[in-house]
Amino acid sequence: MKNTHIKTELPGPKARALLARDALVVSPSYPRDYPFVISHGSGAEVWDVDGNRFLDFAAGIAVCSTGHSHPAVVEAIKDAADRFLHISSDYWHEGQVKLAERMNQLAPMREPVMSFFAQSGTESVEAALKLARYVTGRSRFLGFLGGFHGRTMGSLAFTSSKYTQQKGFFPTMPGVTHVPYPNNYRPLFAGADQGRAVLSYIEDVLFVHNVPPAEVAAILVEPIQGEGGYLVPPDGFLAGLRELCDRHGILLIFDEVQSGVGRTGKMFACQHWDVEPDIMTLAKGLGSGMPIGMVVAKRSVMQHWSRGAHGNTYGGNPLCCAAALATLDLVEQRYQANAARVGDYFMRKLAALAAQYAVIGEVRGKGLMIGMELVTDRATKTPAKSLCDALITRAYHNGLILLACGQSTVRFMPPLMIDESQVDEALELLRISLESCMNSTGWGAGRYADDMLTP
Ligand code: PLP
Repeated sequence: MKNTHIKTELPGPKARALLARDALVVSPSYPRDYPFVISHGSGAEVWDVDGNRFLDFAAGIAVCSTGHSHPAVVEAIKDAADRFLHISSDYWHEGQVKLAERMNQLAPMREPVMSFFAQSGTESVEAALKLARYVTGRSRFLGFLGGFHGRTMGSLAFTSSKYTQQKGFFPTMPGVTHVPYPNNYRPLFAGADQGRAVLSYIEDVLFVHNVPPAEVAAILVEPIQGEGGYLVPPDGFLAGLRELCDRHGILLIFDEVQSGVGRTGKMFACQHWDVEPDIMTLAKGLGSGMPIGMVVAKRSVMQHWSRGAHGNTYGGNPLCCAAALATLDLVEQRYQANAARVGDYFMRKLAALAAQYAVIGEVRGKGLMIGMELVTDRATKTPAKSLCDALITRAYHNGLILLACGQSTVRFMPPLMIDESQVDEALELLRISLESCMNSTGWGAGRYADDMLTP
């Protein structure tokens, strides 16, 4: 099937010209996989500078939650921009207070919360770590293998989904001990319940031999692991962590940067298991594309911060707060339920695809946070990494924007406003891409070679 939306070779001439200029002046550190150069977007569709139209199932890495340039979000930003662009976090403005009040209503904590404003996920995580140390007077932390929390020196100390993110930067913040994230598909421990096994490992091995629990300020965990492979923890795991933290006076930090704000069909992913954190970090989907992060903490925790203990220049920017308030309206009224409904439909269709292709080892997720893990065969479960890279590349050529995660998992994180017909279109593009990969020897070209990205 020829996709009539793709009108030029890819990358097209205008995209190539921009890539050439970029290669001379923009940092080569960005982990770019294929040469998509955006011109504009609307809803779940994006167009490149050569006029080719793509279906966007990556949403700017799970950021464009309400779709590209949702009119209500754009309107709110324009309205805020007409009044003032910036005042700094040294002063007050209503947008910031409104957003913190809104979080106080929405947060999964069973007591009132307070909020700190940031610009990104990593900055939110840094603030959460500082808060945990400040409040507990303890210095150690536990994090999870496969976790991703950002790339600044504190959050990077936890990030462990790929070693390229770490390589060349050691030492990062000291005091972080990693434990495995429970994975029933690839169990590391004996027994059917990997969640329980990880909890016992922390309690009976780590706390006994290596890390005194009384020195641990907090455990930082993604309620659904994102970058590391879209792993949904076994039931009981987060509740077990909560119980373990309570017993040892350790704070529990949920990093909801990727999984929060309606993505999983609930406002926050931890609500699937009804477990409350002490501190929660947000960013990505919160601003529909505007750079905003938040640390939301129980008032009993955050109220210990003294004046001047932590701050920034741009936190709570009025345009970002306006975008976040408009986003939360849309997500609460429509898109959270839409993500649950369309996500279920999508999962069922992917399960049907898995029945046809043995290279699909597992389909998992919640709402519109869905991973499809590719394996060379189902018995050995060897990650089919080159197939995954090739599939992402082919999908781009066929008009579908995707990203990978883990070793060989395709992740689907479209805007939360998509409908079933867009899922059908994406699935057809996915199927023909998979089919063409399977039919080419060695799964064809995998990742774009560096010289394709830097012509
Ligand atoms: N935490 C999680 C769970 C993330 O997925 C990410 C980014 O992917 C971050 C933190 C870091 O966010 P940012 O890239 O905005 O710094």
